[in-house]
Order: sequence, then structure tokens, then C-alpha cells
Amino acid sequence: MRRDRLTGETTLVVPEWETAKAANPSALELKMPSGTTPCPFCPAQMDQPVTSAGEETARVAGGSRQGSWAAVSLLNRWPHTLRRDASEVVVLSDDHDAHLGSMDLDDASLAVGLLLERAEDQRQRGLHPLVFVNHGTDAGASQPHPHGQVIGLPVPDPVGLVEAPALVPGCCVLCEETPEDRLVARLGGASIITPEAPTVDYDQIVVPTIHGPAEPREIAAGVGAALRALWAVTGPVSYNLVLHLVEHPHVHVTPRTARHSGYELAGLHTCYIPPTVTSARLAEAATADAMREAARRSDAA
Ligand SMILES: [Zn+2]
Ligand SMILES: [Zn+2]
Ligand SMILES: [Zn+2]
Repeated sequence: MRRDRLTGETTLVVPEWETAKAANPSALELKMPSGTTPCPFCPAQMDQPVTSAGEETARVAGGSRQGSWAAVSLLNRWPHTLRRDASEVVVLSDDHDAHLGSMDLDDASLAVGLLLERAEDQRQRGLHPLVFVNHGTDAGASQPHPHGQVIGLPVPDPVGLVEAPALVPGCCVLCEETPEDRLVARLGGASIITPEAPTVDYDQIVVPTIHGPAEPREIAAGVGAALRALWAVTGPVSYNLVLHLVEHPHVHVTPRTARHSGYELAGLHTCYIPPTVTSARLAEAATADAMREAARRSDAA
């Protein structure tokens, strides 16, 4: 059993079984929700004078596709908060089939930048922003078009409260050198690591190198690399991103490949592959991805 000094989570790493089990317990493949038709987040609907999706709160232009927008924030038609202006949906791309693992870095940086901007706007209104991305049915998404949510809570979220003491400058666990067997990749401005107590096989955290304000481009680069490594190893799967933005910003990249069973109700997560093994597999995929990216850049130059 492992306990995570950052999240406070407890994980049971299941021992290797002598008898092979037919059904792989962590094998939920990516399914996308059918969503509303026509898609309320596609440019054809979004660019109506009054969008079909909801009231627009912010828009970022300058995406890679000319004449279009890169990311748009809308008030959620179906808010999870009493305050009508505290539930926002951030459409991450004008491309219905994109996601943060496939978007080019300029577009992904603009999308992440808008998530951070909307979180800061909520904070300045005295709310405690919860920022996450759902991709796929098993991650809770109800629309297939790539989007995130920024929800202004009246009090901090419980996980954020648990993490706060572990992020205090001077004794911040994310400022520590990550042991090699938990390191997936070291990028320019961020590392990708395996948590001390993963909540599921192939759980990852993107950790900017600097303890301080979040930089959209470093986060976008880290999340993109983490998602490509994940899908290279597991095939396309649903995932959630949770962006924690105080003190040492970081992003939890959590695949939703396993259904919850009784263990989670007892406060225990389960891993069926030793985290050192998942970490090594992701690291190998991330290295191959970095080499492909470098080759693509030198072709372009
Ligand atoms: Zn769409
Ligand atoms: Zn730190
Ligand atoms: Zn966190």
C-alpha cells in the first residue's frame, strides 16, 4: 500500500497473480458521447450572433486555422453552482475532433491560457476555481467536442485543501528531485511524473519546473506529451485533467480506464501494474514522441 504525500490518496498495488485473469480490469476503451446535434461548440453554431451553447464570456483568436478562433469560454447552460456566472465551459478548439494530445502547441497553449484566465477571473470574484477537462464518456463528458470546465466554488475543493500543506514553499514535494523510476519525461519547462500513489494504472502529473505562476505553454506542452505517451501505451482511452493552480501549479492526467469497485468506497485506489513498470512504459513512449516532434520541427525548418 502506498500513500501519496501530495494528494493524500492511498493506493493498493495488487501483487502479480499466479493465475492469469481473462478480463483485463483496466481495459475501458475510448468511447465518445454522441452529444447534441448539431454540435453547439462547432464554429457553425458558435459564430451565430447568439450561440446555441450559451452566453460567451471570453474568446481567444489567433489559432492556427485562419479566420477562426482558438478557444471560447461560455456560461454553462446547465450550471453546477447557484451563481449563474460561476459555471463556465471552455471550448478548447474550433476543431471538433481535436484534443489537447493532438492540437499543435500554439493552439493548445491558447486553450490552456484561456482556462487559466477564466480561473483567475473567478478568483478575483472571490470564488475558488475548480478547473478540469473531461474527454470521453467514461470521463463524464456529455459532448464530444473538446472542452473543459471552470467552476467557481464558494469554498476550496477538498483535494486542493489536502494538497495545500504539501505545496508550501521550502518543503514543497513538487520541488523535490523526482526519482528516476517515477520520471516519465523531462521537458524544457516541465516534468511528467508518476504519482507516489497512482489512482489508476498510468496516472501521471505534469509539473512545471518553477514553483510559481502557471505558464500556459509549459503546461500545454507537458499535457500534450503526457496524453500522447498515454495513448501510445494504452490506445485511445478517456481521461480527465485536473488543473491545480495554487503555489506549485500542476496537472493530474488521469486515464479513466477502470470502473470503480468496492475498494474506492473504502478510500483505496487500485493499480494492477507496478507503477515502476507503467512509468517505464510511458517514459519509452514519451522519448519516441519527443524524437518525432524534433524530426517534425526540423522538417518544418
Ligand atoms: Zn463540435
Ligand atoms: Zn514547489
Ligand atoms: Zn494536485
